Amino acid sequence: AKRKKYSVDDYVKGILNGDRAILSQAITLIESSKFEHQKVAQDIIERCLPYSGKSVRIGITGVPGAGKSTFIEAFGKHVTSQGNHLAVLAIDPSSERSKGSILGDKTRMEELSVDAHAYIRPSPSAGSLGGVARKTRESLILCEAAGFDTILIETVGVGQSETAVHSMVDFFLLIKIAGAGDELQGIKRGIMEMADAISINKADGNNIHKAQLARVQFQNALHLFPPSPSGWTPKVLTCSSVEKTGIDIIWNTIMDYCSHTQQNGYFDQRRSEQAKYWMYETINEQLRDGFYHQDAVKKQVADFEEKVLNDEMSSFVAAFKLLNTYFDEIKKK
Ligand code: GDP
Repeated sequence: AKRKKYSVDDYVKGILNGDRAILSQAITLIESSKFEHQKVAQDIIERCLPYSGKSVRIGITGVPGAGKSTFIEAFGKHVTSQGNHLAVLAIDPSSERSKGSILGDKTRMEELSVDAHAYIRPSPSAGSLGGVARKTRESLILCEAAGFDTILIETVGVGQSETAVHSMVDFFLLIKIAGAGDELQGIKRGIMEMADAISINKADGNNIHKAQLARVQFQNALHLFPPSPSGWTPKVLTCSSVEKTGIDIIWNTIMDYCSHTQQNGYFDQRRSEQAKYWMYETINEQLRDGFYHQDAVKKQVADFEEKVLNDEMSSFVAAFKLLNTYFDEIKKK
């Protein structure tokens, strides 16, 4: 079937009316690499921006197998049962949709995916982390304009994608499991330092005692970290996503965090800093993309790389020559 062609007005009206089909199509435009799609997408975002910002943005990370999908299903159902409207997005730069990306397999969230108050959108397919992250942040704006008051952004606990998620959320939740062997090693300190709460998942059955032990260990480890500028002390909790215990406490903790940081001004301050960060990130990403996609650069880059590898040219000279090629080409236009 041929897709109906909407105008920017149609998109904006549909999104503001909470029309999910239109929201999904607008996000598809954001994710498209076609120039004309990008242009329409930017117009839509610009017009939705005044209606965005009124949600709680929550980031979730954890290593594969920690139980993120199961957790999001249980947590999401709790959030919507409280009368909230939830959108779930993801950042997984390694994903390819055809291979079943993170969240791509909806059967992982059977109940939530049919919840009338929840909207689940898989990660944009493979690309540079910067590109994937920017697209997710833009999609977040459209989701807020569509009336979603709670946004969850999931990522896998491997590598740089945590930093990207952290730079677009108000609250960062780290999902852990007991006995993964990393409790005492001050593991992935960077990620621990970003966390506003850590929840030890799978605290059920024979595992309860181990989970409680891990909780104490993490709590102690966190004491060694410098205080956060938010004035908030990160909480360590336990939960079972299967038995759905401890889930409400996590939600209440997030609510506590929001009122705490809204009162001391940190909430708005952090959002402003993030907006600034994304301006520069987008400039960097677009410059990089424009550079490497330019035909004149594409033609020469391998040759220069070869010369640098063979010590025939210094890295800097090669870089400047390529940059000159790029800017000369732009001046010609
Ligand atoms: P993800 O890779 O982090 O998204 O993890 P999944 O949600 O796919 O969960 C990985 C495995 O752990 C699955 O077999 C789940 O059934 C199981 N699991 C997730 N949460 C819990 C829990 O709270 N308790 C128990 N016992 N198993 C869980």
